[in-house]
Amino acid sequence: MSPPRIVVVGGGAGGIGVATRLGRHLGRKGKADVVLVDMAEAHVWKPLLHEAATGSLDTGIEAMSYRGHARINGYRFQQGTLVDIDRGRRHVELAPILDGDQELLPARQIGYDYLVIAVGSVADDFGIPGVQQNCRFLDTTSQALDIQRSLRKHFLRYARDERLEEKIKVVIIGAGSTGAEMAAEMANAVHQLKGYGFNVHAGMLSITLVEAKSDILPDVHRPAIRESVAGQLREMGITIRTGQGVVQAEPGRIILADGSVLEADLALWAAGIKAPDVLADIGGLETTSSNQVLVRPNAQTTQDDRIFAIGDCCACPQPDGSLAPPRGQVARQMGHMVVRNLIDILEGREPRREYVYRDLGSLVNLSRFHTVGNLFSFLGGGIMVEGRLARFTYHSLYRRHLLEVYGLIRGSLMMAVRSLSHFLRPSLKLH
Ligand SMILES: Cc1cc2nc3c(=O)[nH]c(=O)nc-3n(C[C@H](O)[C@H](O)[C@H](O)COP(=O)(O)OP(=O)(O)OC[C@H]3O[C@@H](n4cnc5c(N)ncnc54)[C@H](O)[C@@H]3O)c2cc1C
Repeated sequence: MSPPRIVVVGGGAGGIGVATRLGRHLGRKGKADVVLVDMAEAHVWKPLLHEAATGSLDTGIEAMSYRGHARINGYRFQQGTLVDIDRGRRHVELAPILDGDQELLPARQIGYDYLVIAVGSVADDFGIPGVQQNCRFLDTTSQALDIQRSLRKHFLRYARDERLEEKIKVVIIGAGSTGAEMAAEMANAVHQLKGYGFNVHAGMLSITLVEAKSDILPDVHRPAIRESVAGQLREMGITIRTGQGVVQAEPGRIILADGSVLEADLALWAAGIKAPDVLADIGGLETTSSNQVLVRPNAQTTQDDRIFAIGDCCACPQPDGSLAPPRGQVARQMGHMVVRNLIDILEGREPRREYVYRDLGSLVNLSRFHTVGNLFSFLGGGIMVEGRLARFTYHSLYRRHLLEVYGLIRGSLMMAVRSLSHFLRPSLKLH
């Protein structure tokens, strides 16, 4: 009898851990056929995308090929985009892979005994006119690289002295941690480029951070953190506009609710997220208005015990009636729990583990300028940290991810490669 097949769709912050652990614990021993499906060929940890967008992170080094990783971790990889689930026949349907007009791979179906949906989230434009057409998004590695290319083109204008009086106008919509970190990374990019023959200076980049709510970092409860970040952003020359939502985006212009117009050579949308639209009506599963699949506390979907959902794309109820927030640590922790629940099922036990979000804290890293945040927030509000300790903790989250995904030896080697590359290569990707 062939072993049960577990299909994981989405190899991001949550899904890659699930495929890796299932592959190592079950796949290698022939106890399950573990298949990871992702629309991309390589994994880049999403919390680093803003660094990829400015070139301070080189995806050539950081991207991990799913195929290579699958081969040594006991699972199989199939590249493809999930478009539907047939729960009756128990298979997922993948879109064809195209290269322009040419079909490289036809539409396919992959059967499953158990399915884990981990497709993450995308930026939510809230239906605001012109946003899709005129703003850039930071949901995928290729979008991050597009932003990087666009920025480089703008900076290239400054190879000519006579253009030096012009400013490059960047508008970032959404002053949550993604928007704030992106703004700081851009300010850093100018500092770095100066050393590489670009005729640039800090004043040439005008960055405006727009937030509809009354303060930046609306999800951060501690006012001192918001103040610290706002102060640092202003010190970098970044303009903060709060209390004004965007009502329209046009080519080169962002229009705010009070009628004011912001000129934008580059407009970046980081104002909210939803689960991908494909989930809205998938397989008759119950979903929220933001497309998240409703799950029980053990991550089984409310409609189907064979289907689990984790991370940003699921709505997981918490004991206090709230939903687990869309964060990297939630995706990772839920992934660990689902692996244990799946092993329990395969060994004939009930999947009883339930996910309770323990907020270990969150940090805002303003490039090389400043890091601040809260740690152990689940302990009576936690402690506020700033500076080196905060920065070390922030970077250790990625180190932990590397160790988890690559294993101890390869993960440590990967960290060494990163350090070497910082030493050997320019601090900004310049090509
Ligand atoms: C710039 C930025 C900075 C962030 N910083 C932080 C931070 O500091 N701390 C924090 O906790 N969180 C942070 N986040 C949020 C964090 O990245 C997400 O909460 C986390 O990545 C969610 O993990 P996930 O596994 O649910 O989804 P993701 O990591 O987004 O992975 C989803 C995967 O699914 C694949 N996929 C999507 N659709 C399909 C489809 N239809 N078919 C097949 N594959 C598909 C994608 O290619 C991707 O590999 C940040 C996000 C951004 C954008």
